[in-house]
Amino acid sequence: MTASPDLLGLDEVRALIASEDPEGRLPSCGLSQLIVGPGALDLLVAAVSRTAEGISGRPVRVALLVDQTTIQRQGLNVKSRVLADLQRDFEATHVVLSEGHSELHVTDAVVDEAARRCSDADVIVALGGGTISDIGKLVAARLPSVRVVTVMTAASVDGYTDDVSVTLKDGVKRTVPSVWPHVVLADAETVAEAPARMNQAGYGEMVSMYVAPADWRLASMLGIDTSFHRAPIALLEALGGALDACAAGVALGEPAAVQGLTQALAIRGIATGVAGTTACLSGVEHLISHMLDLRAAELHLPTGLHGEQVGAGSVVAACAWEMLHDRVSANPDATVSTAALDRGAAEIRVRSAFADIDPTGRIGSECWNDYERKLARVVDALPRIDSVLRNWPNQAAELRALARPSPFIATGLRAAGAPALLGELGSDVDTNTARWAVENCALMRERFTVVDLLTLLGWWTPSDLDEVLERVDHAVSVAGVPA
Ligand SMILES: [Zn+2]
Repeated sequence: MTASPDLLGLDEVRALIASEDPEGRLPSCGLSQLIVGPGALDLLVAAVSRTAEGISGRPVRVALLVDQTTIQRQGLNVKSRVLADLQRDFEATHVVLSEGHSELHVTDAVVDEAARRCSDADVIVALGGGTISDIGKLVAARLPSVRVVTVMTAASVDGYTDDVSVTLKDGVKRTVPSVWPHVVLADAETVAEAPARMNQAGYGEMVSMYVAPADWRLASMLGIDTSFHRAPIALLEALGGALDACAAGVALGEPAAVQGLTQALAIRGIATGVAGTTACLSGVEHLISHMLDLRAAELHLPTGLHGEQVGAGSVVAACAWEMLHDRVSANPDATVSTAALDRGAAEIRVRSAFADIDPTGRIGSECWNDYERKLARVVDALPRIDSVLRNWPNQAAELRALARPSPFIATGLRAAGAPALLGELGSDVDTNTARWAVENCALMRERFTVVDLLTLLGWWTPSDLDEVLERVDHAVSVAGVPA
């Protein structure tokens, strides 16, 4: 079953990847089935049976992995219904994860507990949002005989259909290898009934495809990250028109639009999985989101919606790209500043960026570990960086195609009813916090982005940051008033 005639099914996804990667250099997509559409929940038991094929002489053991959130579908409790469905055909247990009164995070302790309680299972049915999906995949990575069937309950993030999970380590979010789910199932009725904000956040997550690939390509042009490949980009390009078409329907919660968004998120996740790196879809906008998450965790504030943060961060990323293009065009002799390469000064910059939220210095050390490695790779790449700058007009066209104009991104977010400005994320993200997250986003991870290049060129001073934020305000103002 496919969601919409406008979007790709799993077979078409495989064919497109094969045509762009004829030598089979990329990791293959380990997903066996993608089931998105009305009534998909009715197909869950059959999907679990197929997943457990080969087990005979005893009942198939299934663990239903969930958190404590109640999920409704047409007036009925989805989790109770699924548990009853599974118990009719299998030996099914109910594994409800909780961290007391706080929201559930993907920590080692939580994954340990889930692994212990799922250790007898043949199949884990991970039903819920991105956190439950990530935990299910991490448990299966530890228990090689266990396969995962993921049931998406909201179109909020893209992390369902890949083989990585986001974990919280020492207060910092990190992406780690896990496993592909065997089946991903999204029931259109359930997803359409998810809180509108969740699905609008999913639209925000999607728009990073309009900026992050440029960061990925830039890192490869400079020889800093050589993983770039056209196949995931081709997959994303095939989604573009469908995403624009569903924006207004997502704002209204129209089932067809939400279903289209669900399918688009699933295919986007596969792009990350076959890219073999999240860099394909995670650049400046994700770093900004991770900065906000990190601060929220340290200050014991609720974590913001990932996709909302990524959507608003995507407008910032687009503006950073626009400033870079304008500056390099106006300064064709621009070169890397030696001050930006000073290791001692960089360490002070990284540690002081996180000192306010974590006076113990633990986060500063964790981030400096990553940043130090990035700086070493930059030093090795200096001749290549210089050569790219000397040939900028030739390189710029490809990068411009991968980072779309900021008003275009802001217009889509406005149409979907998603935040387009960091200042719209809620009272926990005030002007100073938003500025802090943008200013220091390059200091938290090894990933190389446009902000690193701006920093190397001496164009990431407080007044440069003012300019980027002014460009953001302008882009959003021409996109229209908040929905
Ligand atoms: Zn994301």
